[in-house]
Amino acid sequence: MTDLQTAIREKFQAASRILIASHVRPDGDAIGSLLALGLALQDSGKTVQMVLADGVPATFRHLPGSDQIVHRSEGAFDLAVTVDCSDLKRVGSALDGYGSPDIVIDHHVTTEPFGILNLVEPEAVATASVLIRYMPAWGLVITPPIAASLMTGLVTDTLGFRTSNITSEALRQAADLLDLGVDMSALYFRSLVRRTFAAARYWGAGLSSLEQANGIVSVTMTLADRKSAGYTGNDDADLINVVSSIDANEVAIIFVEQNAEHVKVSWRGLKPEIDVARIAKQFGGGGHRAAAGAEVRGGLDEVRERVLRITRRALNDM
Ligand code: AMP
Ligand code: MN
Ligand code: MN
Repeated sequence: MTDLQTAIREKFQAASRILIASHVRPDGDAIGSLLALGLALQDSGKTVQMVLADGVPATFRHLPGSDQIVHRSEGAFDLAVTVDCSDLKRVGSALDGYGSPDIVIDHHVTTEPFGILNLVEPEAVATASVLIRYMPAWGLVITPPIAASLMTGLVTDTLGFRTSNITSEALRQAADLLDLGVDMSALYFRSLVRRTFAAARYWGAGLSSLEQANGIVSVTMTLADRKSAGYTGNDDADLINVVSSIDANEVAIIFVEQNAEHVKVSWRGLKPEIDVARIAKQFGGGGHRAAAGAEVRGGLDEVRERVLRITRRALNDM
């Protein structure tokens, strides 16, 4: 076992009250990794508080233990851990009052080591995959409910095992989870396929703004779209996956208006030579080569114009 794995195991063993947090606008890997680590530490006798500043979206409320996830931490802790977060900003208010985490477990290429111990493996397809690699070394057991959370992380971050970073290791990990009795088909359907009627209406509003120019296909989702569709999340309802499937482009972008001063921007690279994490970094965001995001300050029209212009310029240099 490496020094880092030994140090992490010792930190877990020494702690009795553990705080675990993941990122705002949580996805399946954030929630799956949070629950997997949280439930496994509970099984080993620890008191665990699992925190997501934005709570659990309806798409993931079927996961065992998700009802224990709170919006804000409360009380004192001996140890704070973040999973699937590339920087402290991404945690939002979940770690307010605690400062830097003791342990950072992540897989983003843009991650700065903002914890005391940093386990960051950018070639891993999901943070769930990093956990599957090391939980046994930390003395943590993958039970069937934990396996369901880990499978959710693998399935969602790889869009059902079809992203360009897929590895034989990830497929073997999924096979091992199947052997533990996980219903992969049901988890896949709930997290990647099934959508609420409101989300579909929100997609419709977004798709009516579809534009294609200079190799960039983009969609803009306004607060008014969200309201008239009755969609309660503050994200794109995964419309980016639909926009990314439109042929003959280099990059897909979604602009999601958050308020008068902020726009959430998502980029997806549609060709292997394109690195959108580099583009998102220019806007203070981050992510992976093929999928990245940023929270950009400014009004919707101004942000859209600036992001399209800078993205086009960056593509010319790649
Ligand atoms: P999204 O576009 O939100 O689906 O995210 C795509 C990838 O970029 C994910 O790996 C996110 O964790 C990452 N990402 C999204 N937004 C940000 C941000 N504001 N800062 C850093 N990374 C981000
Ligand atoms: Mn994530
Ligand atoms: Mn992830």
